[in-house]
Amino acid sequence: MPPPKNAMEIFQLLDKSNCRDCGEKTCLAFAGAVLRGQKRIEECPKLDRETIGRFSDSPRNQDDVLIELKEKIATVDLAGAAERVGGRFADGKLTLKVLGKDFSVDAEGNFFADIHINPWVVGPYLIYILTTKGLPVSGNWVSFRELRNGKERYPLFQKRCEEVLKTVADSYTDLFDDMVHLFNCRQVEQQFRSDISVVLLPLPKVPVMVCYWLPEDGIESSLNLFFDETANENLGIESVFTIGAGLAQMFAKLSLRHGY
Ligand code: SF4
Repeated sequence: MPPPKNAMEIFQLLDKSNCRDCGEKTCLAFAGAVLRGQKRIEECPKLDRETIGRFSDSPRNQDDVLIELKEKIATVDLAGAAERVGGRFADGKLTLKVLGKDFSVDAEGNFFADIHINPWVVGPYLIYILTTKGLPVSGNWVSFRELRNGKERYPLFQKRCEEVLKTVADSYTDLFDDMVHLFNCRQVEQQFRSDISVVLLPLPKVPVMVCYWLPEDGIESSLNLFFDETANENLGIESVFTIGAGLAQMFAKLSLRHGY
């Protein structure tokens, strides 16, 4: 599919319901944002995979982005980057802990990992090595909305991440205990008056806290994710989104597989 010449070409692909799930007020506004490169076509949850695939063929697809990132890794002094990224360098490889497991890359962009190498991990992992400022984690938690450029992306983040995790947590509340053991995360003291608070570490300086409130007195349960206030500098909003959505998918699949 050739690259779209104007917003109308993109608009024609959309379902025109103006549902706002993408964070834009109308489908036309969304089409304009995609044309300007401010949104990605896949941020409209109403589009099927085939349309997204056709659309992303002509601009850069995910594989192209990954190849580009790997080429950039070849230009990085991995040994020198180790301290900044909170990893260690040995035998020609830079190793970071990803959800408690070793995940390494060498100068040619080859991966070595104790966990399944998912695209939602690889992209943010490489971007983190290339761009993180490596600020120390502050301990001040903020919502996705409060991160820079998070407000406009929040409706989609809520749908793809928080709502998915809440469904899993509602069906299997002990999941949080399993998360602690499976992914080497920390159960922390109650935060924001939540019933359960768990901190995951998808990248060394990018903690993610999951807070879950049980249903009570006719009020339904809720679940929110919180990030360290350094998340914009240490990773960037796009990759924070990717990690949140990826975690949610992973837990949804785990819960299905184990029949929760
Ligand atoms: S999510 Fe899709 S259908 Fe809904 S307003 Fe945005 S572009 Fe339109």
